[in-house]
Amino acid sequence: MASRWSEALVTVGETRDGAGTLGTRAYEHVRALAGKIGPRGAATPGERQAQDYAVETLGAVCQPVERQPVTGIPAPMAFSWLVITGLVLLLLVTADFARAPWGVLLYAALFFVLPRVVSAVRKRAAQGSPRASDNVIGHVTPTSAAQATVIVCAHLDSARASKLTGALWPRVHRVLQGAWLQVVLALVVLAALRWVDFYVGLVPVTIWNMVGAVALGYSVFFASFELIYMAMGRSQAYSPGANDNASGCGVVLALAEAFAADPPRHLALDFTLFTAEELGLIGSERYVAENRLAQDCTFVFNLDMVGTGDELRYARGSGLPPRRTSRRLNDLLQAAEPAIKGQWYWMGNSDSFSFAKKGIPSCWLATHGGASELVYHTLGDTMDHIKPAALDRAARAVWQAVRALDDQLHER
Ligand SMILES: [Zn+2]
Repeated sequence: MASRWSEALVTVGETRDGAGTLGTRAYEHVRALAGKIGPRGAATPGERQAQDYAVETLGAVCQPVERQPVTGIPAPMAFSWLVITGLVLLLLVTADFARAPWGVLLYAALFFVLPRVVSAVRKRAAQGSPRASDNVIGHVTPTSAAQATVIVCAHLDSARASKLTGALWPRVHRVLQGAWLQVVLALVVLAALRWVDFYVGLVPVTIWNMVGAVALGYSVFFASFELIYMAMGRSQAYSPGANDNASGCGVVLALAEAFAADPPRHLALDFTLFTAEELGLIGSERYVAENRLAQDCTFVFNLDMVGTGDELRYARGSGLPPRRTSRRLNDLLQAAEPAIKGQWYWMGNSDSFSFAKKGIPSCWLATHGGASELVYHTLGDTMDHIKPAALDRAARAVWQAVRALDDQLHER
C-alpha cells in the first residue's frame, strides 16, 4: 500500500530516467553544482559560488536562510605525510616481525592514535588561519508547534583530486586502503601469538620467519603501490565532486523544496550544507559546537555520495574508534526502503560523525555500486556517472523516514 507522501511524489511533475520528481529535481541541482560550477575546494571561489547557488535555491522556499561563518579552516595537505608515515612504519615493523613482534603492537596503537593527534594539531594550528567559509542553512517550520528538529545535511566542498582515473589504479588503491585496518588487526593477532610462543616455544622459528616474510612482502607491495599512486596522481586541483558530494547536496536541496511545499506537523527542518568536510569534518564540528542541540529531540540525516549505483546503504557506524549511528533512524530508513543494507565505514568518515560524537541521533545514507569507488576523490568524479534514479532512491528514503518520524510524534 502506497503511503500518502509516496503517492504525491510519484504523481507530481515530470520524471527523468524513471526517477520521480525528487530525483529529477536533485539531478538539476547536482548538474548546477558539479557540471556548471565544478570543483568546490573549501574556502575557494568555486565553493563560494556553490554556496550562493544554495542560498538562492533555499531562499526561494525556506524562511529564513542563514550563513554560519566557519573560520580557521586548515589548508589541504598537498602530499599526505600521515599516509607515508603509516606505510614506512608498516615496512619497518613487518621487516622485524619474527624477532620483535611488539613492533606490530606499537604500530597498531599508532594506527588508531596518530591520525587523531595529527587532525587535532592541524585544527589547532589553523585556528588563526585566514581561510574562512560558511555553512548554509535553510529552515522549514512545521504546521503545528515544533516538538523536535531534523537536520538534513550534506557537505558542499569537494576534495583534492588524484589525476589517476580509469579502471585499474583507483580500484587497486581502494581495495588496499579498505583492507588496511584488517591487515593491521591480522598482524596484531599474529604478533600476539608470536610473543606467547617466545615463552612456550611450540612453533619452529622457520614458520615465524615465513609469516614475517609474507607480511613484509605484502607491506612492500602495499607501500610501493600507494607511494607511486600518490606521486603519479599528485595534483593541486580539486575534484568536480559530482558524486562526492554534489549528489548529497542536490538531494538536500530537492528535499527542502518538497518539504517547504508540504511541511511536517511537528518537526522543524534544517536543510544544511557544510563546508570543509574533506578537511576533517570542520563545518559540521563547528555547527555542533555553536548550536545547542538537544540529544533527545534532534535527528540528523546525512547524505554523502548518493548519486551512483543501484543499491542504498546506511552506515551502521564510522570512524576509528567507530561511533554508531542511530538505530531508530536506521530502522526508519529500512522501513522506507526495505532493500537497504547496513555497512560499517572504518577508513572513511562523514559529517554524521560530528553529531554522533555528541550523542545526537544521526544516520548516514550512501548509494553503492556504479562508478562511485573508481572516481572517489579523482578528477573523474563527473556528471556522467550520476544517475537520477540513485538520487531519487536516497531522497525518497529520507522523505519517508522524516514523514514517519513526524507521525510518531503526532501519535505520542
Ligand atoms: Zn564526501
